Amino acid sequence: MNITHFDEKVAAEIPALLEEGITTLKVFTAYNGRLRLQDGEIFQVLRIAKQHGMLTMLHAENGDVIDVLVAEALAAGKTSPEWHAFTRPAWGAVESVLRACALSAQADAPLYIVHMNTAGGVDQLQYARAQGVPVMGETCPQYLFFTKDDLRRSDGAKWICSPPMRSPADNHRLWEAVSDDTMLVMGTDHCPFYYDGAKPILYEGQEIAIPGKELGARDFTKIPNGLPGVQDRLPILWTEGVVKGRITPNQFVAMTSTNPAKIFGLYPRKGALVPGADADIVIWDPMRVVEYGVAHSHHRTDYNLYEGWQLTGYPEKVLLRGQLIVEGEEWLGKAGQGQYLHRKPHAEVL
Ligand SMILES: [Zn+2]
Repeated sequence: MNITHFDEKVAAEIPALLEEGITTLKVFTAYNGRLRLQDGEIFQVLRIAKQHGMLTMLHAENGDVIDVLVAEALAAGKTSPEWHAFTRPAWGAVESVLRACALSAQADAPLYIVHMNTAGGVDQLQYARAQGVPVMGETCPQYLFFTKDDLRRSDGAKWICSPPMRSPADNHRLWEAVSDDTMLVMGTDHCPFYYDGAKPILYEGQEIAIPGKELGARDFTKIPNGLPGVQDRLPILWTEGVVKGRITPNQFVAMTSTNPAKIFGLYPRKGALVPGADADIVIWDPMRVVEYGVAHSHHRTDYNLYEGWQLTGYPEKVLLRGQLIVEGEEWLGKAGQGQYLHRKPHAEVL
């Protein structure tokens, strides 16, 4: 649940989320006037969450600086996609990670920092964890490969997300943090938009067109922020992580399944192959070579960030609660087969 406004009424409503099986709250230090909470408000959310066994998640950027830089860029006629990155500097994320860790320490409450993407943020996370602060970190594949230079491409809008792509040094430091288990979870921040929403694509047998990135052709602030990523996460991480020797197969499973199941109150029903757990199983072919791209895509969008990449390792079969739902390229599942899961409070802090 995003907490985008805080007052006594909201504070009183938070515990009722547990009855709905919702155990996590997301707060923002950016998006002034829309999503952002002030530090004192985040501190109070952290304390309420702790009191009820919930977990606070935080998006770390500096909203005040971003607002000044965006206004200056637009006034100077700097409207191309790369300005999305220039107006959201890495230092804003770094100090916001440390500030959030300090709030977590002062509230004595667990904190989970989402989609981390800076080298300095990794340093702050390591510092806080070394002090015993109950803070956990997540990164996403896009932050391991792409940089703000990708926003300079003619199709740079495809790479627009927040926080933005950074630098090769950030990519490198994040890989170190993935290898040494500083990053506990590989998420996606999956939030796809069409690159050209004027041209329909065929999706599940229907022609669909939804306005997308083209909305910001003349103004980077109008480009919808977000990328496709759910389908890419496992084969990209296997290819670049396991095959290249940066992580072990056990780390691959931990950061994509076991750790998130534990942190988000789903373990051991999810994230474990044990009697009584849901038999959600992926049979993985570690040798299969795939020329990857939008032609493989089951994302409802018209592009893929990893277009033309050669991947090694791909799912062969997928079982959902013991039922085969994917066999090779064939989808055997049924709409409505998913189940809503009530998550448990007082989940592990890793
Ligand atoms: Zn976010």
